[in-house]
Amino acid sequence: MNIVSQRATASIALFLFSVLATPCDALGKTKLKQIRHIVLDPGHGGTNPGAPSVTGVYEKHITLPIALEIEKQLREATDVNVTLTRRGDTSIGLRERTRLANDAGGDLLISIHCNSSENPDANGLEVYFLDPEAAVTEFESLVEREEQGEADAQSPETPAGETATTPGEEKGPLSIDQVLLDASFYKSHERSEVLAGTLLDTIHKVAKIPRRKVRQAAFAVLKEARMPAVVLEVGYLSHAVEGKKLIDPNYQEIIARGVVKALLAFDKTVPR
Ligand SMILES: [Zn+2]
Repeated sequence: MNIVSQRATASIALFLFSVLATPCDALGKTKLKQIRHIVLDPGHGGTNPGAPSVTGVYEKHITLPIALEIEKQLREATDVNVTLTRRGDTSIGLRERTRLANDAGGDLLISIHCNSSENPDANGLEVYFLDPEAAVTEFESLVEREEQGEADAQSPETPAGETATTPGEEKGPLSIDQVLLDASFYKSHERSEVLAGTLLDTIHKVAKIPRRKVRQAAFAVLKEARMPAVVLEVGYLSHAVEGKKLIDPNYQEIIARGVVKALLAFDKTVPR
């Protein structure tokens, strides 16, 4: 191929890439191909404050502004719909969070949390997706300590005379076995793993947060999600430096930028 035709081919390829890679609407917002609706779940809230930070601020005060910032950036940059499970300092049970995501028809669910450890050196990002075996065996010891905190908080947050479930649905949620029998679970499960890896790598690059790893656990908020779902732990509140950074709105904005970039990248990945 001569130089002229090579240049022409390169120009056409560049044009096609720019058209196909980032389609935009009339407002210049990126049109996502696969994700139409994102559900963000700011962890804890109300009577369940979550872990304390080294500054004395609690996890619930950090997860909400990060979720709101992600929503703001998504609305500015994309045409995607966004639902938050809470917008204030309110108590919501874990099952209720997943129910909200399912009822909203979300295409994916990100539950936002902060880590804490007795090891003062522990820091960095972790992203969890469901461990089906642990979920099936239901070893409660595998449910992390913060889950217990949320479970404990479910009773007082339900006003007397009300139930946490819709009338007529007292039989409770689907069993985990029922969920696993659903063929769509396996597709969602694969996509959850891809989403977790994309979030970990992209936030690490954008926000320069140390990358720990993608892990699997039987977090209750993941068990009944009918969509790709992850728990994103954005850092350690117990770490002297990271714990202080996490309450900084500028730092929260950078984390949100990493999440949005990850979601744009995830949207371009092709399901197997
Ligand atoms: Zn938490």
